[in-house]
Amino acid sequence: MELLRQRILKDGVVRPGSVLKVDSFLNHQIDVELLDAIAAEFERIYAGKPINKVLTIEASGIAVACFVARHFSVPLVFAKKTQSINLEGDSYSTRIESYTHGRIFDVIVSKKYLCSEDHILIVDDFLANGCALEGLIDIAEKAGASIEGIGIVIEKGFQRGGLSLREQGYPLSSLAIIDSMDAETGEIVFRRDAR
Ligand code: 5GP
Repeated sequence: MELLRQRILKDGVVRPGSVLKVDSFLNHQIDVELLDAIAAEFERIYAGKPINKVLTIEASGIAVACFVARHFSVPLVFAKKTQSINLEGDSYSTRIESYTHGRIFDVIVSKKYLCSEDHILIVDDFLANGCALEGLIDIAEKAGASIEGIGIVIEKGFQRGGLSLREQGYPLSSLAIIDSMDAETGEIVFRRDAR
């Protein structure tokens, strides 16, 4: 998506440790016009799929997933990070290692908000090693929900998540795929075939 690539080149900051900061439009201050355009693009990509729910993980996925849910006119459910898994069995849970914080979180989704009737579109802001998405997929599978699509705003294509999920056959679409980035020069190189 050209608009997104241009914005990343203009405002993205490459940090050591292969971290791209996009705080000025996606992760801290939010450009609602850009997020609306991103959501419209996902609506185009997944048009015709029987999507009745969007699923993401707190916190940074929520903003973009909200816009996507609005475009599909469906509810958004976000997986919550929690200190202690409750043992009452009223939620689906999984473990996710956070890329940016280097910690392991338990995450849960209430059984009230996800079930085997659901056809979901999973949305997140970034894809790196794929831990967050694998956790969301695990929760969706535990609920018996059908995964109709996975929409990512920025994929770091030099990390293993995208390759692994595509090899497993998941319908993954990333609006910008970064093939390389350099913290010293600030250079960012995009994959040509990304939308
Ligand atoms: P993964 O689980 O695929 O390794 O990492 C994805 C999650 O980590 C995303 O939900 C995102 O919040 C965070 N993340 C991974 N890489 C980056 C990055 O380069 N920049 C930012 N801002 N977040 C990232």
